[in-house]
Amino acid sequence: MSDFGFELEPNTRPASDDARAGILADPGFGRYFTDHMAHVRWTQDGGWHDRVVRPYAPLQLDPATAVLHYAQEIFEGIKAYRHADGSVWAFRPEKNAERFRNSARRLALPELDTETFVNSLKALVSRDVDWVPTPRSAADESSLYLRPFMIASEPFLGVRPSTEVDYFVIASPAAAYFRGGVQPVSIWLSSAYTRAAPGGTGAAKCGGNYAASLAAQKEAVAHDCDQVAFLDAVEHRWVEELGGMNLFFVFRDGRIVTPALTGTILEGVTRDSVLQLARDAGYETEERPISIEEWRETAASGELTEVFACGTAAVITPVGVLCSDNERIVCSPENGGEAGLTLRTRLLDLQYGRSADHRGWLTRLA
Ligand SMILES: *Cc1c(COP(=O)(O)O)cnc(C)c1O
Repeated sequence: MSDFGFELEPNTRPASDDARAGILADPGFGRYFTDHMAHVRWTQDGGWHDRVVRPYAPLQLDPATAVLHYAQEIFEGIKAYRHADGSVWAFRPEKNAERFRNSARRLALPELDTETFVNSLKALVSRDVDWVPTPRSAADESSLYLRPFMIASEPFLGVRPSTEVDYFVIASPAAAYFRGGVQPVSIWLSSAYTRAAPGGTGAAKCGGNYAASLAAQKEAVAHDCDQVAFLDAVEHRWVEELGGMNLFFVFRDGRIVTPALTGTILEGVTRDSVLQLARDAGYETEERPISIEEWRETAASGELTEVFACGTAAVITPVGVLCSDNERIVCSPENGGEAGLTLRTRLLDLQYGRSADHRGWLTRLA
């Protein structure tokens, strides 16, 4: 049997209906996985081959496998949304496919074509479709989180690009990021650490960026903050992004500003979508450098009316306060802010099929 070009090796011991229902009643985030995973192998001589959907299971890796030593790895994050008629859709998956290719080039990994990338999502989700949560209301933001990733799998300790690579997609049911309504997060401004330097890997979605951000995240938590914001590595002046979300600034005169893509910022699919939806909603948008002084001064003067972060996992999250060693800047009203919450609703309505998809942003997975 073959689906979307993927052979099927069925899981002979899938979770029981009861076990799955128990998980879907309280999935949390990233803790439980579906019965199958998609897998494609690559070798230098053979290219991409062996497209299979097979039982979800631990990988057996030689201790010398390159990824374990040199972090030659990239990943993606994308959600599958169940619509009211039961169908399941992905939001702009071709953008994730394109970014995955860009990340691959930066990490000297082989590029996977968009068709295979999107087909891997279709093959897995159509097989494990019972794992896609059914939202009970418009406030229920549950989904099936999909995690495509690619690893250097050659057992070799020499430092050079791996001649063997594996691509996988795993899937994990996810509850709404915020239980009981959207709540503003507090942000720690890191002065000791930077996330990305010019010429580095900041624009690639790779595990190494996240590994490097954990010490800063620990520092944030030690200061009672939820997330960390990074400044540029050269001047320590220009606002870049959070560890895993892009930032937006809303001004009283109706302008919405986000830092320009300079090569050290991750190009979020949500970021791009928010820019387009903001223009539809009548806001003027700007992609330009924004300094920490501008953030400080416009927050103090009242010109800055709200700040929000965005990404696939949390959609749009208001930033309540920005903290550093000697300051605490209030950035948004206590319940979030009007622009962020309006755009959040518009984005979710599109993703869950409650509003018309004029731009063709949705792809049916099952
Ligand atoms: C994934 C990611 C984002 C958000 O990207 P989306 O495509 O919107 O999910 C932002 N910043 C970083 C560093 C990321 O890894």
